[in-house]
Amino acid sequence: MPVTLFDSLTRSLQQLRPSQPDGVYRFYNCGPTVYAPAHIGNFRTFVVNDLLRRVLELEFGPDKVKHVRNITDVDDKTIRRSREEARPLAEVTQKWTDKFHADCDALNCLRPHVEPTATGHIPEQVGMIAELLQKGHAYATGDGSVYFKVGSFPGYGALSRVKERELQVGSALAHKPQTADADEKEDGSDFALWKAWKPEDGDVKWPGPAGAAAGRPGWHIECSAMSRKHLGETIDLHTGGEDLLFPHHENEIAQTECCTGHAFALHWYHSKHLMVDGAKMSKSLGNLYTLDDLQAKGFSPMALRYALLSGHPRKQLNFTIDSLHAAEKVLATLRTFRAALSPTGGDAAALEPVFAALCDDLNTPAALGALLTVVNRGPVGVSLASFDRVLFALGLKLDAPVAPAAEAPAEVKDLAAQRWAAKQAKNWAEADRLRGSITALGWAMLDSKTDYKLEPAKKG
Ligand code: AMP
Ligand code: ZN
Repeated sequence: MPVTLFDSLTRSLQQLRPSQPDGVYRFYNCGPTVYAPAHIGNFRTFVVNDLLRRVLELEFGPDKVKHVRNITDVDDKTIRRSREEARPLAEVTQKWTDKFHADCDALNCLRPHVEPTATGHIPEQVGMIAELLQKGHAYATGDGSVYFKVGSFPGYGALSRVKERELQVGSALAHKPQTADADEKEDGSDFALWKAWKPEDGDVKWPGPAGAAAGRPGWHIECSAMSRKHLGETIDLHTGGEDLLFPHHENEIAQTECCTGHAFALHWYHSKHLMVDGAKMSKSLGNLYTLDDLQAKGFSPMALRYALLSGHPRKQLNFTIDSLHAAEKVLATLRTFRAALSPTGGDAAALEPVFAALCDDLNTPAALGALLTVVNRGPVGVSLASFDRVLFALGLKLDAPVAPAAEAPAEVKDLAAQRWAAKQAKNWAEADRLRGSITALGWAMLDSKTDYKLEPAKKG
């Protein structure tokens, strides 16, 4: 079934097709910045990209999709975190890369075929910056940084229509320096390709291109260089969350096309952001959740995956804890339904509307609606193989534990230690009182003779 997907460049639905003679569909997805745990908004984007990868595999074949997703392991945030923790940058970024992988695995996201890191591709980035300098698309400033000359690329703004916006509101491309350290830029819209070393960068620096100081690459050049290295000069699809459209992707196009002279990506896709309880997620509002936070409340990663898929990827999705309760119920229904399917026979046609919806611009609400219609009609005549194909497409693993091992918060661990001590001292009243406090916080303490463990309390 042909797959169509909204293309942010042409602003229209386009059919996806591999452009190269080898039939391999080349797909680049901007990856995480690894300085903290990814939040569930980040995971909305990564789950939608995983869905896309799965749909592409079903359409073109599992060995005909090449998926690259980078790791941003050097930038202001990662450097700041390494300084705050007084630990080497590589140690900090490895820790958060490992956590990202663990969360992605729990959410059943397929690993990309290549996961390049920015620090592992310094020569490629320096090489591209040198090419841009040599072709007159970039210039070095007095401090040894290098900037891309936006005015040298006539195609600038095609993706974000930023020039149209500038004409309308006069702000997006303000012709004045936009940051304190940008005084030397020739034009306010020029952006950094290479950032000369500053004392706050500590020992994070590499030799720059000829004519530049030692320093580190800017963020945008990393994706241009890694995409070119691992997927070639023209790729089939480039994706990210909506915030990446401008300036990140606009700048990637400018850098790559000025180097190669070819179109960078034939298709651009941006999924919309996740909101929580109707607001933008932020630490100060207390509505920023990680996967661990939700697991600590007793929810399974699959419930989060289901909830993240429940809204159309091109519409903002409002996340609520209630949506996880609902998702757990649906997963239980799907599990029961699957158990009732006959291992042989049955009709694959019943589930075709699910695939049709996914192939139509990843319309997940329609796909899940179609799935539940089939489930509500009952298992008779539905083929197990086609049901498993649907589960693969959606990435739903029904055998995942419903209440996975989650770490109790410090407060609960503390109460548990006090209760254990009270029990050892045969102070039963105190031990019971403490058990009550632990239960009130949503945890159960399971005792053996010599030890105890904490589990999220079972939901009623
Ligand atoms: P970052 O680690 O900040 O580079 O972000 C990784 C990915 O998460 C990018 O594709 C962002 O567009 C995406 N992202 C960030 N915030 C949200 C959000 N609230 N909802 C959905 N995606 C997001
Ligand atoms: Zn990127």
